[in-house]
Amino acid sequence: MGLQTPVKQTAFPIVWMPETIEEAWEMKKKTVGAVFVAGGTVIQMRREQGVSQATHLISLTNIEQLKMINDGDTLLEIGSLCVLSDCLKASAIKAEVPLLIKAIASIAAPAVRNRGTIGGNVTYRQGDAIPVMVALDADAVIYSDNGYECISVAEYVENLEPSILLAVRFRKEKPTKAKFIYEKVGRREAFTLSLLTIACVVELDGAVLKQIKLAIGGGDMIPQRLTEIENVLTGAPLTEELLTVAYSRFKKAGVICTTPFATEEYVRTVLANIVVSSLEEFMKEEVRYGKD
Ligand SMILES: Cc1cc2nc3c(=O)[nH]c(=O)nc-3n(C[C@H](O)[C@H](O)[C@H](O)COP(=O)(O)OP(=O)(O)OC[C@H]3O[C@@H](n4cnc5c(N)ncnc54)[C@H](O)[C@@H]3O)c2cc1C
Repeated sequence: MGLQTPVKQTAFPIVWMPETIEEAWEMKKKTVGAVFVAGGTVIQMRREQGVSQATHLISLTNIEQLKMINDGDTLLEIGSLCVLSDCLKASAIKAEVPLLIKAIASIAAPAVRNRGTIGGNVTYRQGDAIPVMVALDADAVIYSDNGYECISVAEYVENLEPSILLAVRFRKEKPTKAKFIYEKVGRREAFTLSLLTIACVVELDGAVLKQIKLAIGGGDMIPQRLTEIENVLTGAPLTEELLTVAYSRFKKAGVICTTPFATEEYVRTVLANIVVSSLEEFMKEEVRYGKD
C-alpha cells in the first residue's frame, strides 16, 4: 500500500458514460485496460496512494436499472449502484436484512457512504458488507460474455471473473428464532478499515444449534465461510463443552491473513473470543427463557 512508488499521472482518464448494461460491457471488451467505476471511492483512494490508474473509466452511473431495489415476494434484490447511505434508509433492507444495515453503518464516514455503492463494496473484494452476504447465502447477479447469470456472492468474490455486477439478491426465507452476530474489529473504534469482520446467523432449536452460518472477512482476506467449524457445531447441543471445543477449532480456523497491524494469532483469538462469547450469551438466554 504505502510502499508503492507513486506513478505520475500524465493525463486525466477518458470517462465513458453508457446507458445500458450491454453497451457498458461492449465498451469494456473494446477498450483494453478500461475499468468500471461506480461511486469511485476506491478508485480515488488508489489514485491518492499512487497506484497506476486506468486510462479509460466506464461509469455505470447512467444505467438507471442498477439503482433499483426490488422487494419481491421471495427475493430482495439490491441494485449494484445503490449508494450505501440510501441502503441505510431503505425500509425493505431494514426489514429483510437488518444485519446488512449494521454492516453498512460500520463502513467509513458519511461522505464515503454518500458516494460509495453496494456493488463497489462487493467488487472491491474487501468490503465489510461481503461477510453478511456470504453468511446469508446471497447471490450476485452479473452480466458478461455468458449473458445474465446468478452465482453466489462467495463464488463471485473468490473468482472475480470479468463481468458487471448488476445486483445482490437475498432470499427472504428467514429461519424462525434466528440470532445474528456482526462485528467489525479495527485498530480503533470508528472510521477504520477492518482487521476482521464477522457475520454469523445462528438458528437454535431449544438448546440445539440447528444451523450456523459463519463468514469472515477483513484485512486482505477474501471473505469466506468457515464451513469446517459450521459442521462441528451444526446439530450439537449448545453446552459449555461444545463451546470449549469450538474455541480450540477457531484457533485453527480458515485461511486467515496477517496484516502489518495484526498477526494471524491475534485475528484467530479475536474471532474465537467474539463468536464463542456470543454463543455463550445465546446459551444463557436459552436457559433463562427456555422454549417459547
Ligand atoms: C476513506 C475511505 C474509507 C473507507 N472505509 C471503508 C470501510 O470501513 N469499509 C469498507 O467496506 N470499505 C471502505 N472503503 C472502501 C469503499 O469506499 C467502499 O467499499 C465502497 O462501497 C466502494 O464503492 P464505490 O462505488 O465507490 O466503488 P468504486 O471505487 O467505484 O469501485 C470499486 C471497484 O469495483 C469495481 N466496480 C464498481 N462497481 C462495479 C460493478 N457494478 N460491476 C463491476 N465492477 C464494479 C471498480 O472497477 C473498482 O475496481 C473506504 C474508502 C475510503 C476512501
